[in-house]
Amino acid sequence: MKQWLAGLMLGAVLTGMAAVGVETVGATKADPVPDRSEECAAVTISSSKNGDTFLIFGTGRTGRVEDLPEALSRDGYGRVAISSWARKADHETTLVNLLEAGIDVEMYYVLQSGKPDWERAEIAGFEASETPEPQPAPIYVKKLIEANDYNRRHKLPGKFRKVRYITIHNTAEPFSARQERDRVDFRRDGVNVSFHYAVDEREIVQILPLDTHGWHAGDGARGPGNSESIGIEICRSQCRDDVDWLYRRSEANAVLLAASLLKHYGLSVENLKMHYDWIQKFCPHRILEEKRWDDFRKKVAAALEKDENLIPIQE
Ligand SMILES: [Zn+2]
Repeated sequence: MKQWLAGLMLGAVLTGMAAVGVETVGATKADPVPDRSEECAAVTISSSKNGDTFLIFGTGRTGRVEDLPEALSRDGYGRVAISSWARKADHETTLVNLLEAGIDVEMYYVLQSGKPDWERAEIAGFEASETPEPQPAPIYVKKLIEANDYNRRHKLPGKFRKVRYITIHNTAEPFSARQERDRVDFRRDGVNVSFHYAVDEREIVQILPLDTHGWHAGDGARGPGNSESIGIEICRSQCRDDVDWLYRRSEANAVLLAASLLKHYGLSVENLKMHYDWIQKFCPHRILEEKRWDDFRKKVAAALEKDENLIPIQE
């Protein structure tokens, strides 16, 4: 599948370069296009009864998938990572249209028939290989979601009674921690979802204040998962094969964060939970698929015991 798309991409790049210019629509002096040319846009594609639609995380822009290239250009992006949840989307046309508009496609993940939705295929994108140096220490970034009316209603549900647990998730997406943060901040579809941290191969991004509980465990307003636990999303869990290292490094950073939080709250590894422990949802899917929960817990316990390189937690 990837091979024919690679040929298609090359053809599209060649014709695209010769013939197609990108029109910037909607930009005026009062409303300049922000310079996001160095940023990679994160986009999901979903099905609705009126056709396939997209969501650009960093701007919250949505629309019909046919208009995605124009929307990305309008928002100032030159690169995109895509994750599609649409069963019957026309990925070939979408990909060609993006390339013809001069948008680089960094990742493009699609559902596979007969496979669970956390086991998707990458049909286009650059093939990153692991950098040889040892994994650098993660950078702690506190970038809280906006406390606007919408987010207060859907994503900042209330104050903690008490923090008794740390809950581990996988995003089931290929995106970075900052991209996952932006998705929570900007989505306006009435879905209640929030967590405290998104962790990737480089960064630990805090998105909720630590006195506020999130909405990540599926056990409602009174369940201990939501009301007494800090939620950690380990990112990049779709990344496998030649980009598997992105996930491995994300998980290693999550081990460090989990140990740091247990220490911060005076808890033990007994208080480390999986999303699965609250509602039997198959999450964190990579750890469950690979039967590594015991191993993960042992690593957290060892980091806590060693008490070196732990991260200072910010409230
Ligand atoms: Zn989960």
